[in-house]
Amino acid sequence: MSNRVVQGRMVTPERLAELIEGESVLEAESIEDADRECPDCGGDVVRVGYMPSVTAFVTGYKCQECDWSETDAE
Ligand SMILES: [Zn+2]
Repeated sequence: MSNRVVQGRMVTPERLAELIEGESVLEAESIEDADRECPDCGGDVVRVGYMPSVTAFVTGYKCQECDWSETDAE
């Protein structure tokens, strides 16, 4: 498992992907450190690769301290 604490809560990869995507996802990989800082608060950013649908794979980024997130999706 690679559960991580995000905004004070322990989240699974699937839960983190849902937070980023705003809806449920099909599958998520392990959560990893993104080696970047949040542009909003300077906090640590984690990343997770996930499939929002059967034909798509995106990498999502999420700050561990605040609401900031983004994806590499078009
Ligand atoms: Zn932040």
